[in-house]
This record gives sequence, structure tokens and C-alpha cells, in this order.
Amino acid sequence: MGARAEVESLAELLAGTRGVLLDFDGPVCPLLEDGRDAALADRLRQTIQLPSRQASTDDPLAILTFAYEQGSATEVEDALIAGELVAAGVARATPGGHETIVACAEATTPVVIVSNNSQASVEAYLARHGLGELVHGVVGRAYARPDLMKPNPTPIRQALAMLGIAPEACVLVGDSVTDMTVSLLTNVHPIGYSRRASRRAELIEAGAAMVLDDMRTFADSVRRKATGNQ
Ligand SMILES: [Mg+2]
Repeated sequence: MGARAEVESLAELLAGTRGVLLDFDGPVCPLLEDGRDAALADRLRQTIQLPSRQASTDDPLAILTFAYEQGSATEVEDALIAGELVAAGVARATPGGHETIVACAEATTPVVIVSNNSQASVEAYLARHGLGELVHGVVGRAYARPDLMKPNPTPIRQALAMLGIAPEACVLVGDSVTDMTVSLLTNVHPIGYSRRASRRAELIEAGAAMVLDDMRTFADSVRRKATGNQ
């Protein structure tokens, strides 16, 4: 899709949008990039014996899921929350991520962050950047229940209940295939975001209504809608 067509179709989608569900790790900030995911996975490995197929995973959430399947995720969950909080103190913003939250607040379009990361880490990050008051709510990972992470529809339904807005009038902006899958499950319009072409193709394949390569495009469109200047 060319840049102009992308802006036009985003404006069309936003014309019917009254609430925004926003994934956190990706569209707002890359919480666990720069090797932080691998470092955290290493820390979690100290709390649980992993089978060989997962012995070298860099994905902390995969370790949490394994612990849950073994019967108890609390020790891994506690270590994961602690590591995510540290990451929230150093992670840098995604270009356009903060602008998106500010633009939605100025447009009085409520935002609920829906994340597979811990609520505490999302709230700590938002507070560090003075954004906490600008979001309507945060739905984070249910404690020691990784089975309820997206693409399970539970967190999206919680967010929709917070908003009190019909799913058809909401978009979800996310950078994972699971974000697209759960949007389709819950009748929310899926908008993909990724700077990587390979991921963008996966998001389209997973049903994204459109895929952005820059969150500033989304923030700009929200501002244009608010000022009636599309
Ligand atoms: Mg994400």
C-alpha cells in the first residue's frame, strides 16, 4: 500500500473509531529488545529446570508458559515481573508511540493498553514518561496465568468493558500475529505495526486490516481526525 492510500484507509477506519486498544511492547516501547529478552530468560532459567527443547529460548513468556504447564508459575512470574520492571526503567520509546497516546488523549479517544507484560511494568513505564494520566486503563498479564495472555480474548474483553464501547467501534494496534488473531476473535479492527517487512507480511497474513511501519502515521491520523482535517 502506498503512503497516501495508507493514510486514506487509516482515516476511513478511524472515522468509525471511538476507542483504541494499544499493545505495549512494540507500538509504545520495545520493552525487551537490545538483548533484554535473552538476559531475562537467563534469569528465569535459574528458577526452573527447562526441557532441552526450551533450554535456549530467548522468550521469557515461553518460560512462564512452560512453568504454568508444569503446575506452578508463581516463582517464574515473580522473577519475570521484577525483570520487566527493570526493563521499564530503561526502555526507550517507539517513535510515535508516546505521540499516539497524547494524540488520542487530545482527541478524547480513550486508550486502554492491553499487554502480555505485567501491569506493573506498563504502569511504571507510563509513569516515568508522564503518560499514566493520559490512558483510560491498563490490562496487563494475569498473575501466573499465561494461558490468559493474548490471543486469549479475556484481556481484550476486559479492556472493552473498561471502555464501555462496542468492539466494532474499536481498533487494536499491535505488532504480533496474536494481536491480529485476538482482534478478529473479539470483533475489534486489527491494525498491525512493524518496522520489519517480514513481520508486516505475517500481520497481513494474520488478518490485519492494515499494517503501519511507523506509529507516527497513526498519531498523525488521530490528530487529523480531531481537527477535522483529513
Ligand atoms: Mg507487542
